[in-house]
Amino acid sequence: MSTSSGLPKIIILGAGFAGHTAALHLSDLVKGSAEISVVAPRNRFTWFPSLIWVGTGTMSAEQTWFELQPVYEKIGIHYFDARAEEIAPDAQTVTIRYADDHTETLAYDYLLNATGPYLNFEGTPGLGPKVGATQSVCSVEHALGARDAYTTSLDQMRKGKRQKIVIGVGHPAATCEGAAFEYIMNVHWDLQRRGLRDKADLVWLTNEPEAGDFGVDGIEAKKGGVMVTGAGMVRMLFDEAGIKPIIAAGVSAVHGDSISYDVVGGDPSEMNFDFAMLIPQFRGIPMKYVAADGTDISAKMTLPNGFMRVDAEYAPKTYDEYKASDWPALYRSPYYANLYAAGIAFAPPHPISRGKKTANGMVVQATPPRTGMASGIMGRAVAQNIADQVAGREPSHHARMSEMPAACIASMGKSLLSGSAASIVMVPIVRDFERYPETGRDVGLCDLDVGLAGAWTKRLLHEAFMWKLQAKPGWQMIPE
Ligand SMILES: Cc1cc2nc3c(=O)[nH]c(=O)nc-3n(C[C@H](O)[C@H](O)[C@H](O)COP(=O)(O)OP(=O)(O)OC[C@H]3O[C@@H](n4cnc5c(N)ncnc54)[C@H](O)[C@@H]3O)c2cc1C
Repeated sequence: MSTSSGLPKIIILGAGFAGHTAALHLSDLVKGSAEISVVAPRNRFTWFPSLIWVGTGTMSAEQTWFELQPVYEKIGIHYFDARAEEIAPDAQTVTIRYADDHTETLAYDYLLNATGPYLNFEGTPGLGPKVGATQSVCSVEHALGARDAYTTSLDQMRKGKRQKIVIGVGHPAATCEGAAFEYIMNVHWDLQRRGLRDKADLVWLTNEPEAGDFGVDGIEAKKGGVMVTGAGMVRMLFDEAGIKPIIAAGVSAVHGDSISYDVVGGDPSEMNFDFAMLIPQFRGIPMKYVAADGTDISAKMTLPNGFMRVDAEYAPKTYDEYKASDWPALYRSPYYANLYAAGIAFAPPHPISRGKKTANGMVVQATPPRTGMASGIMGRAVAQNIADQVAGREPSHHARMSEMPAACIASMGKSLLSGSAASIVMVPIVRDFERYPETGRDVGLCDLDVGLAGAWTKRLLHEAFMWKLQAKPGWQMIPE
């Protein structure tokens, strides 16, 4: 299929870490040989890592986003400020809906689904700022709401009222524990600098099987011949900060200011809070897939969690049977050679962390994160693969999470003088026991560190990426 210009048409759904990175690279890779369009609602790219600082009132919301339209105009990409709702992979069309509710059907030759997460607050009764009293930092609006609720708690502390602050995840199968960890450490730092730390009890509530698991089965590194672990690092940080961890817990409901949760090895419990920030479960963005005859093939194209199937091994296995090669390489649909999914939108073949069951049968399972860096690397690989196909070649660019490194920096205070950060490097993200029989990772390349240098790096990353992602001169030099 080709467009009126006679050029093949590439459509990217979503302009986040995966989709926007793919769009930038495609604008370079297929210049003049394909038409590129991006569909994403709200005309905004959001730099999520800095929402942690918005949620503690230490950064303005405006510093965390920029408008997409001018960037796409500059690099020759069509932009549709709309939301995709139906993909017809046989007809090669996608139906989009604008904010005023009118719809349009666009034809494509190549399609990338990079629509990120659906924030499934409904998965936990009473969770989230819309229906309850818990906060989130998963969007600019949520982070602003968290900041306001946190400010109310600060006012109470100033009046001498002790506050109970609960931070973590709000569903037994949530992901993104790293962001919640960063938030609790920033709240601790902020309370300290305000001289209010002794007026608050800080509780870490997580579905991770162990502190420092982060949904990636923990981290270890060899430093000076000694093995150090993420669990040790996080427990030490919590001890120093006086944070009480509740590990392997699955939140089942929130009623007013009370959180109900079940714990592996314990009894179901309730806990009151004055301020709580709990990240919801992530699911795939609701999308209907229809076949040539109009039948709904969504159940074939996606897993029950709504994420799109790609070239991964989805056959059910036990934890000990998982293999590094189960993870996708190309991020291409097994059914349609011109359809890809990257970032949070693709369906991981299985968890990375070990799940546990409570006495009442609740499965508490930290699910796999697809962080910003990983999503960007996938977005670039998909761009290269689509460019291969446009040029008549077989796609060959692999970005397996079981081969990919990840560097994560969790700030613990925004100040460049008194802040700090936990810096984590893992190689690869998903353990590969065939390649690294002892631990599944290259422990010589893995790293764990705590210090002011990380705080500087985190700020530099904010500045460097806001530059790169606006396609400013030299953006190609800044890696994903
Ligand atoms: C508070 C917070 C802090 C974080 N900190 C870090 C960090 O320090 N380091 C790190 O690596 N990662 C971090 N992450 C994770 C990181 O933000 C995600 O991994 C990343 O955003 C995933 O990229 P994505 O492209 O898959 O999804 P997103 O970035 O969420 O992008 C999804 C895109 O799809 C669009 N969209 C949604 N629905 C539709 C639709 N129906 N049609 C078309 N478009 C649609 C959205 O508007 C958006 O443009 C953090 C996340 C949070 C919430």
